[in-house]
Amino acid sequence: MNPLFAGLGTTIFEAMSARARATGAINLGQGFPDGRGPEDVLAEAARALLEDSNQYPPMAGTPALRQAVADHYRMHQGLDLEASEVIVTSGATEALAAAIFALVTPGDEVVMFQPLYDAYLPLVRRAGGIARLVRLEPPGWRITAAALAAVASDRTRLVLLNSPLNPTGTMIGPDELALIADFCIAHDAIAMCDEVWEHVVFDGAQHQSLMALPGMRERTVKIGSAGKIFSLTGWKVGWMCAAPVISSVLAKAHQFLTFTTPPNLQAAAAYGLGKDIGYFEGMRAGYQRSRDRLAGGLGALGYVVLPSAATYFLSLDLAASGVAMDDVTFANWLIEEAGVATIPVSAFYAADPVTSVVRLCFAKQDATLDSALERMAKRP
Ligand code: PMP
Ligand code: GLN
Repeated sequence: MNPLFAGLGTTIFEAMSARARATGAINLGQGFPDGRGPEDVLAEAARALLEDSNQYPPMAGTPALRQAVADHYRMHQGLDLEASEVIVTSGATEALAAAIFALVTPGDEVVMFQPLYDAYLPLVRRAGGIARLVRLEPPGWRITAAALAAVASDRTRLVLLNSPLNPTGTMIGPDELALIADFCIAHDAIAMCDEVWEHVVFDGAQHQSLMALPGMRERTVKIGSAGKIFSLTGWKVGWMCAAPVISSVLAKAHQFLTFTTPPNLQAAAAYGLGKDIGYFEGMRAGYQRSRDRLAGGLGALGYVVLPSAATYFLSLDLAASGVAMDDVTFANWLIEEAGVATIPVSAFYAADPVTSVVRLCFAKQDATLDSALERMAKRP
């Protein structure tokens, strides 16, 4: 057995959801909404399933979805992508795997930021890459030039960036993006940008793509997910966008991972990406209300909530909240004693973890959030 995988545990998302199911806890751990998602997008998926072909679509994605992704980013982010530069994948998770396997060769160094999404490190290691980790800290979780300089080397190949950032709910700011762009250009590195949360941003913020910065168009892989854009996390339709010299190699890795993605879901994603701005604004406003409801309730219970600018998540600062437990102990206490599942943020660190923060998902119906708050009135 490959020791890289034999040594891995089950991801924290699956582990916490399984415990929530087993104990009847309210699941504010794994990030998924408990609503139905947009009815017209669901209807288009059902229509396509019944009326269109259910045989293999083209390997790089249906022409309609590739075009819809390019048009969508032109309209919403001012990017000048061609449909031919978009490769459709089975979720952003597959895009990450395909792009890492395509671009990282043994001994290449990959700069990543902790807290990091659980899939990144096992994939980079499986590709033979060497992780160079920049540690971010609460409450700001900011990237500095000094921290980047400390992980640079002549073997730097890739910078893997997640913005908006899961689990912190922060957005990488313009100054930090400029630092990263300078870094990539100076080291002739490729930027892989996991932007699955690009539409789930609050308080009127506008997502900014690293690809739009000067000099980055030709050296960025931009990854997105229909699951997040349409609040349908089980759909597993994603994509990766890059200039032809890169995307042609990404396609080669993709063809031997999944080859293709269900055609009816591609049709529905293509339809949904063309929805008018009102849909996206409405989705953001809804999640923002949920964020404020949970944050307000937790504040009233004496918890200190770190600011959440994006994603489905907010976090609690345990030390500032007067909880004398580390994050894992608190998350265990909360699921067993109060009946609410959360995610300890130390799970997003490979080394030297921040242990005083837990992540909660607010993408839930009001009644679910209110029940969780009632339960959380019991504090350790
Ligand atoms: N990257 C990040 C940062 C995520 O939060 C998620 C899922 N929440 C993914 C990738 C995976 O996306 P998908 O479900 O489309 O594979
Ligand atoms: N991205 C989701 C989260 O952060 C989980 C995805 C998964 O379970 N793999 O909660």
